[in-house]
Amino acid sequence: MAVLLRSTSSVEARPSLVGMAAADLRALFEAWGEPGYRARQVARWLYQQFVFDPFEMRDLPLRLRERLATETIALPLEAVTERSADEGLTHKALLRLSDGSLVESVLMRYPARDRSRSRRTVCVSSQVGCAVGCPFCATGLLGLKRNLTPGEIVGQVLYFARRLREIEGDGANLTNVVLMGEGEPLANFRNVWRAIEILNAPDGVGLGARRVTISTSGLAPRIRELAAKPLQVGLAVSLHAPTDDLRNRLVPVNRRYSIAEVIDACRAYVSATRRRVSFEYAMMRDVNDSLEQARQVAALLDGLLAHVNLIPLNHVDGSPFEPSPWSRILAFQRVIQERGISCTVRSERGNDIEGACGQLRARAADTISRDALG
Ligand code: SAH
Ligand code: SF4
Repeated sequence: MAVLLRSTSSVEARPSLVGMAAADLRALFEAWGEPGYRARQVARWLYQQFVFDPFEMRDLPLRLRERLATETIALPLEAVTERSADEGLTHKALLRLSDGSLVESVLMRYPARDRSRSRRTVCVSSQVGCAVGCPFCATGLLGLKRNLTPGEIVGQVLYFARRLREIEGDGANLTNVVLMGEGEPLANFRNVWRAIEILNAPDGVGLGARRVTISTSGLAPRIRELAAKPLQVGLAVSLHAPTDDLRNRLVPVNRRYSIAEVIDACRAYVSATRRRVSFEYAMMRDVNDSLEQARQVAALLDGLLAHVNLIPLNHVDGSPFEPSPWSRILAFQRVIQERGISCTVRSERGNDIEGACGQLRARAADTISRDALG
């Protein structure tokens, strides 16, 4: 069963508890004349038990539960629909925010295989829409509507943290969070960072920083800022083209920050963190998938601690780009690997529910009319 919250018209005016760090909760309770340990209790319910209804917070006095219920909203989003694919391993939720905006998030479960441990990854959005405008991306075709708040970003994670326990049982926990849904996370850096701090804090969700990955279209100055942060989160860069000419078209922010500037910023990230950078490359037939382009990609990344992740393109209505044939993807991968750079092909998830990461929101309007209203 999805986590559906009672919605009322006054929701917007009330502060959201999710998105408050321990210090914010302490300040709230102090202002209410409550003892400081209430903050710890409430943080535990929200971030570790995934309980959002104040009346279920059993160790709080009734009058405080009532006050929380009337003066705050715990989770600033509610599920409109949730669909599953890949025999229940992938779940995509369409979430409504308090201003009526919609965003999508995806849970991907990966059972243990050979030597790799099982993972439970949630892919979250950082903005409603996106201003970068990549022409092959469903979100890019929409334009930017607004930034998400820290509570809306953390809220997507908590929504699925709770759902995971319903799906797998009580002890189940998320292992990874990727900011690869809608939006450009580094264009909403302040809120994204506050969300990451809450996800990481021991009195928050307690997820290791290394288990969080930010995917960016390449805002070079922000990559440098990220490199200087004390928490070492993972970095994925959406490359998609080995030359500025082509990248200017596919990832228009390249006109502002060229490939060379982005790679330079990645070098700063690697030397500060000693972590490798993942380069995403969506394979588009006869656009960026020639073997010459594979050689150019390898040359570009030569000497950098890098990994290349080839993504089979999801075709988006209204976009002229088509996916590369499978044989071409494998040949492209071989060229890169032969040059000593690790290169994988991303497994496709949730294609039948338009739920592949990076292609969220495709037909969201459709989805609503079909599933919620229909
Ligand atoms: N804005 C950020 C993060 C969200 S997009 C970024 O661009 O990195 C996450 C990934 O999905 C990016 O690599 C993006 O280029 C990719 N993507 C977007 N649309 C896609 C599509 N139709 N098919 C395959 N990958 C896509
Ligand atoms: Fe924005 Fe990323 Fe889509 Fe480009 S690929 S439009 S940066 S969400």
